[in-house]
Amino acid sequence: MNYQKILETIYSQIKEGENQGATATYIPELSKVDPEKFGVNLTTVNNQSFGVGDTRDKFSIQSIAKVLTLCLAYQLRGESIWKRLGYEPSGTAFNSLVQLESDQGIPRNPLINAGALVICDILMSALGDAREEFLQFVRDIAGNASISYSEHIVESEKSAGFVNIALCNYIKSFGNIHNDCDDVLDFYFKMCSIELTCEELSQTFLFLANGGRKTLPSKPLLTPSQVKRTNAIMQTCGLYDESGDFAFRVGLPGKSGVGGGIVAVYPGHYCIAVWSPKLNKKGNSYRGMKFLEEFTTLTEMSIF
Ligand code: GLU
Repeated sequence: MNYQKILETIYSQIKEGENQGATATYIPELSKVDPEKFGVNLTTVNNQSFGVGDTRDKFSIQSIAKVLTLCLAYQLRGESIWKRLGYEPSGTAFNSLVQLESDQGIPRNPLINAGALVICDILMSALGDAREEFLQFVRDIAGNASISYSEHIVESEKSAGFVNIALCNYIKSFGNIHNDCDDVLDFYFKMCSIELTCEELSQTFLFLANGGRKTLPSKPLLTPSQVKRTNAIMQTCGLYDESGDFAFRVGLPGKSGVGGGIVAVYPGHYCIAVWSPKLNKKGNSYRGMKFLEEFTTLTEMSIF
C-alpha cells in the first residue's frame, strides 16, 4: 500500500473543495487559529510515518486527550472505574447536563465532558500529582519530553468554562466527584490544553493500533482486553453525537476534539491523525471527517 501517494491524492482533492464550518468560538483562543490549516499524518505499527500538509504544526488536541486520561485511569484502577461511569453512547452533546439528573451523577461514558471529569477525579485520587504524572505518561508514550500544557488555552477555557463548572459541581452533589471541584476542573482544563502535531498525535495513539503496546521502545500500556474496550468506546462514543455517522462513513475507532483534530486507529495496521480547525455542526472537523472517509474508502481498509 503506497500510503504517501494516497494521502497526497486525497489531500489535494479535499483542499480544492470548500472548507465549510467554523472554528470553535466558545474557547476564545481556539477561534484565533488559522482556519485554512490542514495536516495529516499516518504512522504504521512498524513505525513508518507518512505525512502531508501542516503535519508539524502544534494544535490543541482538546477532547482527544480524554482517551489518554481514560487509558491512565484504566491502567491504574482496572475495571473498578466502571462503578463510577458507563460505556454507552450518550446521544447528547459532549457537554450536556441533562442525563446526569436521571442517571444520579453517573456519566454515560468517559469521552463526554461529564465522564472525563470523573476520570480526572479518579486520577487525582490515585496519583500524588495528577497534572505532572499525567503529562509524564503522555510524554513517555509519545517519546517526546517537550510535550506540555498550554497555559493560555487553559486560561481561555477557564474564562468561559461555565458549563464544565456546572457539570463538575452537579456530579459532586451526587457524591461522584471526591476531590475539590476547582482542583478537578483545573486538571481537566490542563489535560484538554495539550498541544501536539499530527505527527506526534499519530505516534502517541499508535499503541491503540498495536494491542496496547507502545512501539518505541516496546512496552505494554494496556492489556488486550483494555485495548479492545478502549477502542470500542472510541468507536461508539468518540465523535460526539456523530459517532454513528463516523462508524458508517469511516469505519474505524476514532476521537475528535474541538481544536479540529481527529485521530483514528486501524488495529494491527496504523494510526492516522488529521487536523483542520473548521468544525461541522456536530463539532467535528469538516475536512477531517471528509479526509478519513475518503481514506478508508480508497484503501478499502476498515474494521468492518
Ligand atoms: N475542553 C473542551 C471542553 O470542555 C473539550 C471539548 C472537546 O474537544 O470536545 O469544552
